[in-house]
Amino acid sequence: MLRRIDKSYFALYREEIAVSNLRMLQSISLFGTFTSLLSLALSFLFPSPWNSLPVYLMWIATNLLFYGLCRHEAQPLRRGATVWLYTYMGIMTLSAIVNGTVLFQTGTSATVVGFFTLAPFLMIDRPLRFAVFQSLACLCMCVFALAYKPFDIAIIDCCNAIGFSLLACFMSYTLIGMKLRELSSRAALIAERDTDGLTGISTRQAAEKHIRACLMHSGGEATLWILDIDCFKNLNDTLGHLWGDHVLIDFAQTIRASFRSTDYVARLGGDEFLVFVTGATAPEVIREQADRLLTALRKTVSDGEHTCNVTASIGITRCSGNGTFERYYEQADTALYRVKNEGRNGFCIF
Ligand code: GH3
Ligand code: MG
Repeated sequence: MLRRIDKSYFALYREEIAVSNLRMLQSISLFGTFTSLLSLALSFLFPSPWNSLPVYLMWIATNLLFYGLCRHEAQPLRRGATVWLYTYMGIMTLSAIVNGTVLFQTGTSATVVGFFTLAPFLMIDRPLRFAVFQSLACLCMCVFALAYKPFDIAIIDCCNAIGFSLLACFMSYTLIGMKLRELSSRAALIAERDTDGLTGISTRQAAEKHIRACLMHSGGEATLWILDIDCFKNLNDTLGHLWGDHVLIDFAQTIRASFRSTDYVARLGGDEFLVFVTGATAPEVIREQADRLLTALRKTVSDGEHTCNVTASIGITRCSGNGTFERYYEQADTALYRVKNEGRNGFCIF
């Protein structure tokens, strides 16, 4: 039975779908380059090899062009990967139709059927859009066959085109659904791996990966903050671990609410947190924000019997864009320990 495709997946996994389609375009255009060269070579074994020469040359050029574009990870190609995949398939299918009808009028066209069968394996896209593309290809095949071929052969081509188009639509619906469900379970696994179980913010490993990628790709200015709760061991000893956990959750929420949604907040482990703010920020703005954050984090926790004052220390470093994660982390850590040595409940910019 066909399983329903959850339409929201297309918006949720837009980036992953684009990457998958781009990878598929890269593989198929590499494979297409070799098979077009092989077709060109084999055509010389048959009578009138020059007939198909323009088509084979066009296939080779198209495949090489798309493979070259994919290899260089051209950004426009990545953004519109699905459109480019349709363009590639459109050019290849149309030229196969011309080859199998206008240039070779005496036999049935097997190559076109091959393209119809291949198409569903290549792309992840909305099934309806795929069905429209497939119907247009089928219509083209029927029109060209009826216009250029003897009627009896044209009818066989039309039947093949309609039958294999229906098969392609059915296959694409099944395969698209399977690929989307796979994307969804992979995304759920990644989210679980990258989320701290107690506070719900990112883990140290995820933060490290994110910051390294930001430093490598954007290379612009940023600010790295490391925050640590003061004398947290005392709080655990006085109020118990459960209260300690509540404080950690509250701490994470306060930090998250104090920064922009685009800023990266993570728990490094224990009572240590990290914030990575992208973009240039003036030192006076950082100071004001650190003061506000220290006030927001200052709390009194009591179980009715015992009372603890919670404060935090913050180490901050400005990233100029050409340093490594290790260097900036070490700088922020040095700044944090300077605050700890100077009596805690403060911040330092290194
Ligand atoms: P300092 O001011 O120098 O930071 O002193 P501190 O007592 O806070 O020392 P430190 O940051 O090294 O202590 C971290 C403590 O956090 C140690 C550990 O018992 C506690 N801790 C680590 N993970 C958890 C957790 O998940 N829940 C709770 N309740 N406590 C934790
Ligand atoms: Mg601490």
